[in-house]
Amino acid sequence: MNILIFGPNGSGKGTQGAIVQKKYGVPHIETGVIFRENISKGTELGAKAKGYIDRGELVPDDITVPMILNRLKEADCKDGWLLDGFPRNLAQAEALWDALVKENMKLDYVIEIILDRDIAKKRIMGRRLCANDNNHPNNIYIDAIKPAEKDGKMVCRVCGSDKLTTRADDQDEDAIDKRHNIYYDTNTGTLAGVNYFKERVKVIGVDGSPGVNEVSEELLKKLA
Ligand code: AMP
Repeated sequence: MNILIFGPNGSGKGTQGAIVQKKYGVPHIETGVIFRENISKGTELGAKAKGYIDRGELVPDDITVPMILNRLKEADCKDGWLLDGFPRNLAQAEALWDALVKENMKLDYVIEIILDRDIAKKRIMGRRLCANDNNHPNNIYIDAIKPAEKDGKMVCRVCGSDKLTTRADDQDEDAIDKRHNIYYDTNTGTLAGVNYFKERVKVIGVDGSPGVNEVSEELLKKLA
């Protein structure tokens, strides 16, 4: 089972990707994770990629494309893979498609989590972390997981802790805009890549605006 998953930052793509990965038992290949591992291990690839990642830019295609195409040839990918974070632009989409055609491999599913840009941004900026437990979801802009209120103070909706904080990079509007500029670009960016696949295979569109459970329910129904 060969699967691609697309979705802007803030759409819940990571969570849905993990659910899809579990359903099919294929390796979840996340470009960003591979880069971060290489940076922490101090590899040559990591050193090449670091500056671009720190600036919020895409790592050049001549580094990223062979890295991913080689990864797909590893033994654990022989029964399939779930690619997440690649392709990120039109050129990468074309390179992946060409490689698949050459290897006589097909794409079983291409998933697109659809979310309006303003909502995606609000979701990132509205995230609140509970000091007691990272897995207590709170977001001031998502009704289903809005923090509770106690004595006029915002508290964790799960445990009632009044220690709700934000993650610094969630509040960096410029960084969020930069990433979204790449994603929502229909000329050469990620959505241009999605449109490229739409001309070739069926792309499963899932509305990313409801809560996590509703989104995964719709997604799993469409994958069945
Ligand atoms: P992510 O964890 O997916 O947000 O990726 C973190 C960073 O890794 C991105 O901001 C880019 O700098 C880089 N990156 C991830 N995927 C790609 C890709 N397909 N092409 C180029 N750079 C990428």
